[in-house]
Amino acid sequence: MGNDGGSVVKRKDLVVKSVREKVDLGDLWSVCSLSGRVLEDPVVSDWQGKLYNKEAVLELLIGERSSDTCDIKSIKDVAELNRTFDSTLWVCPVSRLDIVKEGDGRHVVHIVTCGHCGEREAVVVGEKCVVCGSDASDLTVVPLNPKSLDRVKSRLDHLKQKGLTHSLAKSRKRRRTSQTKSKRLKDYVQ
Ligand SMILES: [Zn+2]
Repeated sequence: MGNDGGSVVKRKDLVVKSVREKVDLGDLWSVCSLSGRVLEDPVVSDWQGKLYNKEAVLELLIGERSSDTCDIKSIKDVAELNRTFDSTLWVCPVSRLDIVKEGDGRHVVHIVTCGHCGEREAVVVGEKCVVCGSDASDLTVVPLNPKSLDRVKSRLDHLKQKGLTHSLAKSRKRRRTSQTKSKRLKDYVQ
């Protein structure tokens, strides 16, 4: 019917609005926090549990995009999500919660070891991922879009102590800058 065209325009307007204006709570689950574009797989999280299109992160890392608010310095600072869809809806693979619509105010987590994400009490049982059995202990699980950063900050501190990044990859250790610099210079001269 004639109304169909109208509703499409309305949806487009909403997307444009979210790009131009500050991302609001509902958008945190459907819009990339870096590019303002609608989230499309591959989607990644950072240590704060923010969501990004991997493409936008790659653009940031190669210098095609800049950001004042994002502290991603390496691809190791993000971890890829393994999302479950019910038709076009992003859902929890266990409880089937509609994450975009109902994720705010619920405890939605990303298990970094396997990428599965959903309601914490549904997908994490006995420190294991219910879907695939991967490790889902405190260090390997990050809350998505948390209200407070206390827990994610202490997780990142623990990971740093172990020489790991948010994605559980080994971080490159930088020892005494002057020594590293002179070594680099030596390597260059040789
Ligand atoms: Zn899993």
